[in-house]
Amino acid sequence: MSSNEPNQLFIIRLLNWLLVGTVALFAVATYYVGSLEAKRQHDHDTFSPYEVAFAVAQTVNEYLRFEQILAMYALPGSTIPIDDVRLRLDIIIGRLQQFERSAEHVGEDRLVVHFMHTNPSYGETMDEVSKALDIADIALNSGDTPDMELVHESLKALKRLDSKMASLAAQASSHSAQLYAGDKRELREIAQFSEILKAILIGCGALLVIVLTIKLRLLDRMQVRLRNLTDQLTRTMQSVTVQNERFDAALNTMNHALCMFDKNRKLAVYNSRFRELTGIADGNLEGLSIIALRKKGNRTFQYLHDAIAPSVIKRHPQLVITDLPNKTSFQVNQTPMANGGWLATFEDVSGIRAAEARITHMALHDSLTGLPNRAHFRQRLEQIMTDKNATDSHMAFFFLDLDKFKDINDTLGHQVGDDLLRAVAARMLAALPDGYFPARFGGDEFAVMSSAGEVKDHQRFCTWLIDQLSRPYLIGPHALRVGVSIGIAAWSKRAPISSEELIRRADVALYQAKADGRGQTRFYLPQLDETKVRHARLETDLAFALDRNEMSVVFQPIVDTISGKPVSYEALARWTHHELGPIPPETFIALAETNQTISSIGEWVLNQACTQAVSWPDDISVSANISPVQFRDPMLAYKISAILERTGLPPRRLNVEITETAFLSSTATNLAILKQLKDLGVKLSMDDFGTGYSSLQSLLRFEFDRVKIDQSFIHELPSSPRARAVIELVTQMTKKLNITCTAEGVETEEQLMCLTELFCPEVQGYLISPACPLNELPAELQPQIGQTVSAGLLRA
Ligand code: C2E
Ligand code: CA
Ligand code: CA
Repeated sequence: MSSNEPNQLFIIRLLNWLLVGTVALFAVATYYVGSLEAKRQHDHDTFSPYEVAFAVAQTVNEYLRFEQILAMYALPGSTIPIDDVRLRLDIIIGRLQQFERSAEHVGEDRLVVHFMHTNPSYGETMDEVSKALDIADIALNSGDTPDMELVHESLKALKRLDSKMASLAAQASSHSAQLYAGDKRELREIAQFSEILKAILIGCGALLVIVLTIKLRLLDRMQVRLRNLTDQLTRTMQSVTVQNERFDAALNTMNHALCMFDKNRKLAVYNSRFRELTGIADGNLEGLSIIALRKKGNRTFQYLHDAIAPSVIKRHPQLVITDLPNKTSFQVNQTPMANGGWLATFEDVSGIRAAEARITHMALHDSLTGLPNRAHFRQRLEQIMTDKNATDSHMAFFFLDLDKFKDINDTLGHQVGDDLLRAVAARMLAALPDGYFPARFGGDEFAVMSSAGEVKDHQRFCTWLIDQLSRPYLIGPHALRVGVSIGIAAWSKRAPISSEELIRRADVALYQAKADGRGQTRFYLPQLDETKVRHARLETDLAFALDRNEMSVVFQPIVDTISGKPVSYEALARWTHHELGPIPPETFIALAETNQTISSIGEWVLNQACTQAVSWPDDISVSANISPVQFRDPMLAYKISAILERTGLPPRRLNVEITETAFLSSTATNLAILKQLKDLGVKLSMDDFGTGYSSLQSLLRFEFDRVKIDQSFIHELPSSPRARAVIELVTQMTKKLNITCTAEGVETEEQLMCLTELFCPEVQGYLISPACPLNELPAELQPQIGQTVSAGLLRA
């Protein structure tokens, strides 16, 4: 309804009153006009302005006639019958009686009586007339013959009164004229008033019409409005019906169970999900109290009820996730309503909860191994560090790194690498005693935290753990071994450090463990920081080592086991830092491999080796190590060929030593390079044979010219039958494949004896000579053109 609706209603009410007023006015006017008309009629009826004049004139007339007839009768010899005179007398007497009507009519101005009273002289005149007539009457009625004397007397009296009578007639006429004029005026006034009334009546009529028209219009408008409102109402009703249907549909298709309780705490609205939730199969739930529902409902509903009941009672809104004993979870949203009731929705969020748990697990665990990840580990560390209840807590942090894991990854592929990591993690998890918390930090880095034990226990634990983790793993067809290095850092409440610092210290210790030869355990010591700093410095300085002429090449002879004659010299790089002095090749080669300087160093060494070898006897070759990193360079063969050309060394006199890793990783490029080298005529040696994971496979896959059995096998000689068996197998196999076999790291006579027995054709090691500048080699081991050293060795 619009705002001008009340105005219209007011106008209609006003119009109603106006209408009533108009009708009343109309009625009053009509009545008034009617009464005026009646008065006018009455006046008309009683209107006899001429009656007075007429009556008086008639009387005067009759009087004159009587006087005339009496006069004629009085004439001698008159023939006028007396009866005629008497008749005339009676008439005039009758007339005169008119002037004497009762006094009650005196007020009426239209009566003769009234006129007579207007002037006393008229009465006197009439009295005189009466007296004269009385005389006449007496005269005429005094026996059979009238008394003529009296007649004459009467005549005389009458004669005297003639003028008075005439005047009376005139006066009556004037009186009537006045009355007439008054009546006329009054009539005119009535007529005027009647006109006005008519006009008013017409006005009233017009007003009535206007009022009626306006009212009709307003009513029309109201009706249209009403119709519109009705239409609107119908539409609203329809839409409400549709809405209701939709609401019902929405209620019953929504995922949430919904219930609404009214202010009397009775269930007013609910959907099918809610029914399902309560477990009440049938019957109308409407009107039931929550207590009744709880009684009838299943365990789940009872549980949910108990979760929200306190907030319902306190009329506090509540949004809570309730985990039920049956492993389902519901999000309950309870809201008190303004009318005193309350509304609640229940959503089964078990799936979301599970996903959340999965996400939390994923956020805190390593996806590959399932072990806690670095973030989780840090959290745990900080928990212990900030535990206010623990008064004297301490913990040890073990930082583990798998030795040569990268080689496995490169050699056997990422899948095998991943499987190995999983196996290591599983073994670690199974082996760790209570109180040890493991994690994977990424790559092949693992961590273990323990808040138990002393330093000596830590050492024992690490030795035990390394032993556990170093046992072979069976991954598909491969039996893989992997070493472990461990760095240890400690934390105690008495000397607290941050978790970052703790991790950093363990990392430094780990670095040292690796630097000290793999499979080691090192505790963090402040001086190790220096090692790390030194390491960083070396890394920078290495780039300038060649330019600063700090690099040199030493040679280690490889000799024929039987003749003792050098057959080759292995060129090995040396770096003497201008301030730090000699840097071990294990250290700087690893550095050079990480910062890519290995290519230039490798080329430089090769160049030096070839330059030297050119002057050696033709049957003596030179061996140079080529790093796996260098194998990523597709130009490697070209570069080697360029060096050979420049130095003039025949390719057959160059042995390129390659570790198994280089041979197997990214096979396509590597095989191509190997083939190019082979085509060039360069000899290929497989270095560190037996430390890789598919040494035999590699051997079969590509035609190597030489195999160098790794020092670790030789060092176990002669005591280890296993080492012996392996070496024997390799020597026999290489012989069959027409490959030369070299034993590396021969340090003792016993080892040499053993190798001779096993028919190993070539040996290299400190027993013969360490690597040193050529001129520092014993004379018999020095390569001299046209000379052999066999005689010298035999002499020794
Ligand atoms: P490698 O290729 O296995 O070289 C043999 C290493 O064993 C040399 O150590 C040598 O001095 C050492 N050695 C020889 N005989 C004995 C022995 O009887 N007992 C023991 N315990 N060790 C012995 P070096 O010179 O320290 O070289 C270490 C490694 O550094 C080499 O191992 C090689 O992998 C790498 N390397 C050295 N120079 C170069 C180079 O110019 N290029 C590349 N890519 N790698 C190099
Ligand atoms: Ca080598
Ligand atoms: Ca070697």
